[in-house]
Amino acid sequence: MITRRRAFLQENIIIAASKTPLTWQQQLSMAIRDPQVLCDRLGLSSQWLAGAQTGHALFDVCVPDAYLNRIAYADLNDPLLRQVLPVDKEALTPPGYVADPLEESGHQPAKGLIHKYANRVLLIASPTCAINCRYCFRRHFPYSDNAPSRAQWQEALDYLRADTSIHEAILSGGDPLAANDRQLAWLVDQLEGIPHIKRLRVHTRLPVVIPDRVDDALLAWLSNTRLQKVIVLHINHANEIDQAVIDACTRLKQTGVTLLNQSVLLRGVNDNVTTLATLSERLFEAGILPYYLHVLDPVQGAAHFDVADSEAKELIAELRDHLPGFLMPRLVREIPGKGSKTPL
Ligand code: SF4
Repeated sequence: MITRRRAFLQENIIIAASKTPLTWQQQLSMAIRDPQVLCDRLGLSSQWLAGAQTGHALFDVCVPDAYLNRIAYADLNDPLLRQVLPVDKEALTPPGYVADPLEESGHQPAKGLIHKYANRVLLIASPTCAINCRYCFRRHFPYSDNAPSRAQWQEALDYLRADTSIHEAILSGGDPLAANDRQLAWLVDQLEGIPHIKRLRVHTRLPVVIPDRVDDALLAWLSNTRLQKVIVLHINHANEIDQAVIDACTRLKQTGVTLLNQSVLLRGVNDNVTTLATLSERLFEAGILPYYLHVLDPVQGAAHFDVADSEAKELIAELRDHLPGFLMPRLVREIPGKGSKTPL
């Protein structure tokens, strides 16, 4: 064990010491996409490999080094590892767990566009992510049908131009920040040209997964838009917030963006009061306000992460005794067909 631990540290030191810092695109292209490599790098015994292969066959593994380096070595209970390690339970098919738990396919008036709620729409700005979270409610989303070319974006943009009740555009994905900045700047420019669009919201996990994503090119288009900006990050555990993430958030805030966070309540990751309270405190230290704590969407392959609503409500009630009100996330469930998230 000691030898493997040394090898692990040595490998990471070599990567850290390599001459030129890697760009975020290079880090993304070098992300671990093989369960065997993931198990080897983290010192997980071969008994976990078969399960990891099973889960990987259903939803690809993807973990960049910048995230991997925050995971403890040879610790199957690490809360970050649990979010990214494929397991054999993903092959279970309990009743009620489906491919499209939010029934988004019924709300797509144009390619790349989802319109579920009044006054706001969601644009699938990128079909990929920098990490594949095992509980993702879009793990079966047909991204290949939702990757518009520039010409095809016009249909979605025409839809927005025609509906003056829409005030907010939400860039989503995948992870919208997995798209290149030229494409994103173009899309934001198009949105700015629609007078009734006031706000730009970006739902992203990339500044957490690869903090170097917050580079000059990103900050340039984010700084220059007339739209009010909100970035909603996705962080489930305080261990995800290291100094690089704090620095990335500081750079984002300098553009005048409001930073919020949404988490998912996950069995074995953050399903206790101490962990949730520590997460809220750490978020605030990084300049991020807790926004939502979602209960799990019943997506096929993720049932082992579920926390019952009754337990979730008890946790939130207890959490109130540990946190000031402004650090309390709202416990919600998304119910298909409802006009907003449902508080629990
Ligand atoms: S980053 Fe978000 S969209 Fe991508 S896999 Fe994770 S939860 Fe899903």
